[in-house]
Amino acid sequence: MKAIALLSAACLAFAAACSPSAKQVTAPPEQAKPEIALYALDCGKARVQDADLFADDGSFKGQARDLVDPCYLIRHPAGDLLWDTGLPDALLATPSADAGPFALTRTVTLAAQLQQLGLAPADIEFVSISHSHFDHVGNGGAFAGSTFLIDPRERAFMFSDEARKAPEFAAYAALEQAKTTSLEGDADHDVFGDGRVKIIAAPGHTPGHRVLLVQLAQAGPVLLTGDMYHLAESRERRTVPRFNTDRTQTLLSIEKVEKLATETGARVVRQHVPEDFSALPVFPEALK
Ligand SMILES: [Zn+2]
Repeated sequence: MKAIALLSAACLAFAAACSPSAKQVTAPPEQAKPEIALYALDCGKARVQDADLFADDGSFKGQARDLVDPCYLIRHPAGDLLWDTGLPDALLATPSADAGPFALTRTVTLAAQLQQLGLAPADIEFVSISHSHFDHVGNGGAFAGSTFLIDPRERAFMFSDEARKAPEFAAYAALEQAKTTSLEGDADHDVFGDGRVKIIAAPGHTPGHRVLLVQLAQAGPVLLTGDMYHLAESRERRTVPRFNTDRTQTLLSIEKVEKLATETGARVVRQHVPEDFSALPVFPEALK
């Protein structure tokens, strides 16, 4: 009060020069930006009898592991972004499906979870993926009406002649006709133009692997790291999976992501790690 009184007195003397300061003191606080909400959706689970494939140095040989496979919905005042599309909803009809070393299950569909929020796939403005392995593109085709945000190196990889022969291709084939924004080079892609949702290049696991940084009002920055780290120990040990496109690039991307995590103080979410998933609000609650 005393400071304001003094300032007012001073401003009486120098009215023109002081008016901006006086305004700062008396104006109501600036309106807070509308919040962003991050939903972690259950998009399936995978069990491996031998996790050896997750580290090319033999770190996990002979160990059985359970992995989660979430999709993330980021609701921004300017639109919705779906990050990864999980295992196919069609798996719900089969008790457990085998895909190579994985036993796969789904107990709820992505479509049903979106419906709980009053959303249909056609309502989602943007769809993007960390990368195009089968457990991240399983419902991609349902979002062919969204704008597909994709690294051109990943797009070339997922629509290559070889990829077209893979059993998972049909699940996302329709994305080839989607309206597409090509995320050129290694610059961050600012999805809504306000710096709060950024898709960040982290290639190596696949040619155009990416991670997502979301700035939440209450929870702070959150980094969804795709398949940078498959198991809980992968991050600490900096392991590289046996199924991987470019080892050197993967290690450089790990360094980049770790530096970003340190600089931003972001909460790092290892997308396949069950404890990271269960530490997030249970759907339909959101992290805000
Ligand atoms: Zn994966």
